[in-house]
Amino acid sequence: MSIRTRLTLWYTGLLAVFLLIFNVVVYVALQSVLLSEVENRLVAGLVLVNDRIQAENDPLAVVISGRARLPSTDAFSSQFLTQISQLDGRIVQTSDNLQGRSLPVPDDMAVGLLSSGRQDTRTINVAPGVRMQMVSSLIVFGDRPIGIIQVAQSLSGVDDALRIARRVLLFGSLLLLGLAALGGAVLARAALSPINVIAETAHQITQTGDLDQRIPVVDPNDEIGQLTETFNDMLSRLETLFQTQQRLVADVSHELRTPLTTIQGNLDLLKRGGIEDPEMRAEALRAIGDETGRMRRLINDLLLLAQADSGMTLHKQPVEMDTLLLDVYRQAQVMASGVGVNVRLGAEDQAMVLGDADRLRQLLLNLVDNAIKYTPAGGDMILTLRRDGGWVQLGVEDTGIGIAPEDLAHIFDRFYRADPSRTRPGGSGLGLAIAQWIAQVHGGRIQVESLLGQGSRFTAWLPDASANTQA
Ligand code: ADP
Repeated sequence: MSIRTRLTLWYTGLLAVFLLIFNVVVYVALQSVLLSEVENRLVAGLVLVNDRIQAENDPLAVVISGRARLPSTDAFSSQFLTQISQLDGRIVQTSDNLQGRSLPVPDDMAVGLLSSGRQDTRTINVAPGVRMQMVSSLIVFGDRPIGIIQVAQSLSGVDDALRIARRVLLFGSLLLLGLAALGGAVLARAALSPINVIAETAHQITQTGDLDQRIPVVDPNDEIGQLTETFNDMLSRLETLFQTQQRLVADVSHELRTPLTTIQGNLDLLKRGGIEDPEMRAEALRAIGDETGRMRRLINDLLLLAQADSGMTLHKQPVEMDTLLLDVYRQAQVMASGVGVNVRLGAEDQAMVLGDADRLRQLLLNLVDNAIKYTPAGGDMILTLRRDGGWVQLGVEDTGIGIAPEDLAHIFDRFYRADPSRTRPGGSGLGLAIAQWIAQVHGGRIQVESLLGQGSRFTAWLPDASANTQA
């Protein structure tokens, strides 16, 4: 069953319940008002007859004789049926409008009147579907009851009014329910139509795979507007992810194609025996080895980033950063010796970081590798380690080619490489992305300052754990 139908049914059902309660209350109230109005009139008539009997008789004479002189009941009977009877039920006088018939004098009524002395009000059925309201009271002289007065009126007027009220309430309610169901269905349709648009768009995207579609937001403050915005955000994220994935595949294929072409070319040469010179053959084998190593490094980097994306947790323990820095310094000297870059050690505080020693070494080596790669022969590279207000700063500074301001914002992106004419071959564009990730999983970050043609300074900020571990 659709939400629209369910909403309409609920709405109409609830309204039906409320209408039923309302109708019952209105009907009961109307009935009691009409009946009490008739009763009030009957009581007034009864009092009038009784007053006349009292006025026209001498109480002492009545008490002695047990009989009273009765006024003509027709004087009161324009609206009521009036009857006077003795206590034993024998009828003494009836008004003419009773036309020879009489009002019933039930035994329990006489007994009740005698024992309570109060009026008796009751509704009697005189014929099927014909009701009468009757009020009775005793005729009392001194303390002695000598008869009963009964005043009655047909309830046909009241019953007619109630019958009409029943019809009006019933048909009115049915009409109202019909209109409400119709209105509810129209409203539910209008309220849910934006959801249909969302469902339709989602369906189209599934069919066409076109992720750049967006749903127009009518009112950003209502629930549907928020749902639409959330849906659009989700589409944007999916689109970005999809594009990133496509770019990644393109970048990886591109990065793998270059070494594979070199390897293939050298292998072809070797296979055809085209290289006679043993030195050139060794050179071809070395090139194959280099490119294989490059591919292995690229695949390792990609694997590491994939693990990083899936939330890899590191095994952290206290790492002496000064010892680590010395290690990297020695390795940097070896790496730089062939290219003529002077590696120096600057400030070297003692500091501890809670982390993964291998990853921290990798972070530093990636920065060092870049500094050596992008610094021409004769340039300098300085490694520093400082403690500064709860942070450990690892600095890798070079006097190399520097980075253009427009590239600075992107160098930590995966596969981003600045202007190829200045970028040395051998890199893949993943080194800084990995370094940044390592800093971040250690609760830190990497900052870069650079001037084109003058050099760069990369600083990794990591939380200082020296105090904790020494304590
Ligand atoms: P790559 O493998 O290309 O070195 P990285 O992610 O390590 O990839 O660096 C991204 C880009 O940032 C490099 O291609 C280079 O353009 C620039 N870069 C990084 N370090 C330096 C540096 N010390 N000096 C100049 N440019 C740098």
